[in-house]
Amino acid sequence: MRRDEIAAGLAEVESRIGEACRAAGRDRGEVTLIAVTKTRPAEDARILAGLGVRDVGENRDQEAAPKAHELHELPLTWHFVGQLQTNKVRSVVGYADVIHSVDRPRLVEAISKEAVRQGRKVGCLVQVALDDDPGRGGARPGDVLGLADDVAAADGVWLGGVMAVAPLGEDPAKAFARLHDLALSLQERHPRATMISAGMSEDLNEAVAHGATHVRVGTALLGRRKPFVR
Ligand SMILES: *Cc1c(COP(=O)(O)O)cnc(C)c1O
Repeated sequence: MRRDEIAAGLAEVESRIGEACRAAGRDRGEVTLIAVTKTRPAEDARILAGLGVRDVGENRDQEAAPKAHELHELPLTWHFVGQLQTNKVRSVVGYADVIHSVDRPRLVEAISKEAVRQGRKVGCLVQVALDDDPGRGGARPGDVLGLADDVAAADGVWLGGVMAVAPLGEDPAKAFARLHDLALSLQERHPRATMISAGMSEDLNEAVAHGATHVRVGTALLGRRKPFVR
């Protein structure tokens, strides 16, 4: 049964997070698991909710919007973790509690304007590009503090902290160490912006070792995704 498969995946991921916390001398309560349900049916998210998961992540509005709508009665926090185009902001602000991919001033303006219009308060994480690949989204490290200031000054949004995806072909521990340094500088200016969203199925240990407060896990929980066409 699907529920048993998901329960087994969740137990495995829980034990990995627990182990990573112990190794890092951190409390398990400092790390939130975000179950990334992209490409999976809404039913998987419903099962996860039944197993006690409270945070889910999606990366494409076309898929996330109907799922969030279908599951709106469940006690879930919705995280939007994918690259976000301004023409999708209206839809995403309608269901996302936290947007992890804020990487340019135009996006801050658009989210703020729409959140005010809809009477919502949306959490924003500044996504940091930890490599020079512009295709994967994220602000350059040198632009992160300025963007954080923009979010902090905008209406309808709150500044959560930072997010990153480990670059391909580099030791993730080194990349996450840079992210942690940046997060600490950001916290000097914005002490409540303590979220560090880092770590996926393959590198959650390294992320927890370097201060991640939120890990975004799909494959290790729900199995391999089929490649999908856009
Ligand atoms: C898909 C995705 C994840 C989850 O990745 P897995 O390797 O399946 O755990 C995490 N973060 C983002 C931004 C993603 O797009």
